[in-house]
Amino acid sequence: MQKKISDIYSYNTHVSFEFFPPKTSHGIKQIYQSIARLKNMNPDFFSVTYGAGGSTADKSLEIASALTNLAQVTCVAHLTCVGMNRDQVDVLLQSLAYHGIANVLALRGDPPAGDAKFIKPENGFAYAAELVRFIRERSDMGILVAGYPEGHSENPSRDEDFKHLVEKVAAGADGIVTQLFFENRFLFEMIENLDRANVNVPLLAGIFPISNAKQILRITELSGASVPEKLRVGLNKYAENADDMEKFGTDYAVEQIEALLSGGVNHFHFYTMNRHRQIRNILLQLRSYFPQLNLWE
Ligand SMILES: Cc1cc2nc3c(=O)[nH]c(=O)nc-3n(C[C@H](O)[C@H](O)[C@H](O)COP(=O)(O)OP(=O)(O)OC[C@H]3O[C@@H](n4cnc5c(N)ncnc54)[C@H](O)[C@@H]3O)c2cc1C
Repeated sequence: MQKKISDIYSYNTHVSFEFFPPKTSHGIKQIYQSIARLKNMNPDFFSVTYGAGGSTADKSLEIASALTNLAQVTCVAHLTCVGMNRDQVDVLLQSLAYHGIANVLALRGDPPAGDAKFIKPENGFAYAAELVRFIRERSDMGILVAGYPEGHSENPSRDEDFKHLVEKVAAGADGIVTQLFFENRFLFEMIENLDRANVNVPLLAGIFPISNAKQILRITELSGASVPEKLRVGLNKYAENADDMEKFGTDYAVEQIEALLSGGVNHFHFYTMNRHRQIRNILLQLRSYFPQLNLWE
């Protein structure tokens, strides 16, 4: 169906979905089912994570290529520089380009398991900003970077970490995807700081739909994300009932996104955990804000 120009340009909200390469054949079935369902919604892009230390490099590439060439959707491949020198990163970039993948989320990555600190590989990169500069110099890939509304777990200073985010954008990033957060004030503070620093690239708010108490407690511990009282109460109350927990998580995300929308945030990146039903239920409740999405199938 033909759209009117006024319709196209009235869509000012954006939605993207993140997937991770599964370990099992059941997981493969689940991810491709979810991709098929979520593709029908017409999101802006899909992203595929890159396992710690490159542990899923082949699977990540396979899924990113399937998204690009079979599903024919816009894909962002996550890429870390753990354990790789510049030549190896260059080969990986060429491989992504060979598969038609036109965007990356450029990350430094976590220290390899067992290492307390990230050690820069010989002839490699110490920080994501260096990786962004390297990619920008040799390709026209779209580049996203990671932002941490509550600061990064390795950096005791949130302000210092924010300065490094600004460096990543100055190095050539086209946009920022945030770490998950459950308290909106951290994102609003980040937006104020970005305004003050004259950083104008899109900021994609990382939304994690809650469906499992143990998973949320593990993830918040790893990422350092705060658990507000309301969330803690819900996690305790519904821990033993999967349906009630999912309903609580859906309502929490709807409320969180509505508050972000009223504060002027328009771009949302969902950590799907390779699932689709809850994401659809969340967006269905918010459908008036996302007229571009097809939520009816
Ligand atoms: C949206 C998102 C997606 C992610 N996807 C993946 C994934 O697919 N695979 C994966 O393995 N990990 C992923 N991560 C996790 C990420 O790899 C880790 O958080 C990692 O520890 C930091 O990566 P970074 O790119 O943010 O690093 P950087 O921006 O380089 O920052 C790393 C640390 O160094 C500090 N720093 C930066 N520059 C300087 C400097 N010049 N001097 C001193 N200190 C500095 C920062 O404050 C921070 O503490 C993701 C994170 C997010 C938010």
